[in-house]
Amino acid sequence: MICPKRTSELLDLHLAPFKDKDPAWEVGVSKIAGRGVMATRHLKRGEIIFQDSPLLIGLAAHEEDSLNSCSVCFKVLPDTRFMCRQGCGLPVCSLCAKKKQHKTDCDMFKSWSPNEPDVANSVIIRLLCVARAINLTKDQRDLIYCLQANLDNNHRTEVRNAAKCFKNFPTDKKIVEIMNRTVAVLRTNGFDKTNDRTTDHQEFNFRALYPLFGVMNHDCIPNSYYTFDEKTNNMIVRAAVDILEGEEITTTYTKLFTGNIARHLYLKMKKGFTCKCPRCSDSTEKGAFISGLYCRDTNCSGLVVPEITGLPHPNWNCLVCKQKSTHVQMMKSQDFASGAINAKANSNSLRTLVHYLNEKSDSFIPNSNYVVIDAKMSVLNRLALGREDCNEELVSCTRLRYSRDITQVMDKLGLGDSLLRTQLETQLRKEEERRAKKQKELAEKQRQLAELELKAAEADKLLAALAAEGAEGEVAAAAPTPEQT
Ligand SMILES: [Zn+2]
Ligand SMILES: [Zn+2]
Ligand SMILES: [Zn+2]
Ligand SMILES: [Zn+2]
Repeated sequence: MICPKRTSELLDLHLAPFKDKDPAWEVGVSKIAGRGVMATRHLKRGEIIFQDSPLLIGLAAHEEDSLNSCSVCFKVLPDTRFMCRQGCGLPVCSLCAKKKQHKTDCDMFKSWSPNEPDVANSVIIRLLCVARAINLTKDQRDLIYCLQANLDNNHRTEVRNAAKCFKNFPTDKKIVEIMNRTVAVLRTNGFDKTNDRTTDHQEFNFRALYPLFGVMNHDCIPNSYYTFDEKTNNMIVRAAVDILEGEEITTTYTKLFTGNIARHLYLKMKKGFTCKCPRCSDSTEKGAFISGLYCRDTNCSGLVVPEITGLPHPNWNCLVCKQKSTHVQMMKSQDFASGAINAKANSNSLRTLVHYLNEKSDSFIPNSNYVVIDAKMSVLNRLALGREDCNEELVSCTRLRYSRDITQVMDKLGLGDSLLRTQLETQLRKEEERRAKKQKELAEKQRQLAELELKAAEADKLLAALAAEGAEGEVAAAAPTPEQT
């Protein structure tokens, strides 16, 4: 473990431009693992804990069709002529082409001679974030070396593959080592479009390293959450719940709605550790039953959950009849359910999927299971883009119901604030307001109708009275008066 004091010094240097005089955090020895970030005072839910700026940032460049963004400002560029005319092999806008950052990038890549400098190559563009580490100051590089790195056999592949795209790629061992190490740190602590760390479904098209954030440890129920400042790409970390002085500030490296086994496997394989947080030590996941499946005994209505063993293939137990099942047996039910729901999700009718989730899937998979939660999330995401083949009423009901269902799961898990919760709660409130307004309008219409009916009844009465009076008059008129006789 690199000493917390040295890490703090380097972080102080990195955060100097916007560090508080009285920061709410410090780097200390963690109970979870190695070092961690600790609260130096009581923090209220929603309060900003710190801001972090990217020490390294570059385009994620995962998809071949998204390579036309400027490598400095990340703006999407017009379809043609976005490559640097100096032959560095990087896309750059006309404004940034004159900036210092590009001059540094450009000189470096030009000296390596890209094979095809006019063609946008995802391998070259993706390497930029890593290669920028070469031009950092010694302190900044030390900070990278302070962070956890996943140094498995694969970590050299990226640089090795990138080397093939240049004629004069550096062979200097020190430089290659800096790049390999940076790749390894990015794999463990970096943000990337494809990795699951962006748990709040935030669009993040970069690959970046936020050092203070990198020091934070993982918890499957994190007590902080983050957002990004669009202008600066700075990360803003806030308290998701009230945090006590001295408590460790945690984040999550996994998706929130995956079951114990899937999270364990991901953390073990990708991050190289076993999580022992309260959620991971509870087979019911705090009563949220995210992994829960129905008992294989059709006469039993119990839920079956995996045992806490830390093994990838644990036995499963029914909480009612206590029957044991093997992992393979339970995976069959899980796979069947996933297959059935995904087939509906992939059919083009959103209405069919919603109907299936509301009426059918419950017969073979509990609503608490992550497959169902995922499907509901995807319905909400699709509705955010358009209502497809659902009518207004169905859209409204679905939004209300699914937002409520998912926030209830979050409550059960004990999850505090997050961008996702804000989004769901906003949707819920809007939908409730819309419904209340509609109901009020309906009530007003009914009141008006009742008023009209009352008036009509009065008018009828009046008419009847008039008619009666008229009839009397006629009778009177018809009867001969004594004078006439
Ligand atoms: Zn630009
Ligand atoms: Zn250039
Ligand atoms: Zn955990
Ligand atoms: Zn049972």
